[in-house]
Amino acid sequence: MEGQRLDIVDKAQVIREQELERALNENRAHFVGEDVDFLHCLECGVEIPSERRAAIHRCKLCVDCQTSQEAQAKHYRKP
Ligand SMILES: [Zn+2]
Repeated sequence: MEGQRLDIVDKAQVIREQELERALNENRAHFVGEDVDFLHCLECGVEIPSERRAAIHRCKLCVDCQTSQEAQAKHYRKP
């Protein structure tokens, strides 16, 4: 049973990597000179909404990844 479970995790990992690779390729195709913004999140590969890209110059993370990165940056400091 344990081996089977690992197999499923492995497949999920491969699919995730393929998705990310595809997203990064789309990002590369989108690059125009130095003034770059990202179509897809660099962390999870999810598409970044155009409103978010318009609001944040050179935005490279989706809301979720941005939020979790900011949380980590604060070392989970409590208010
Ligand atoms: Zn993300």
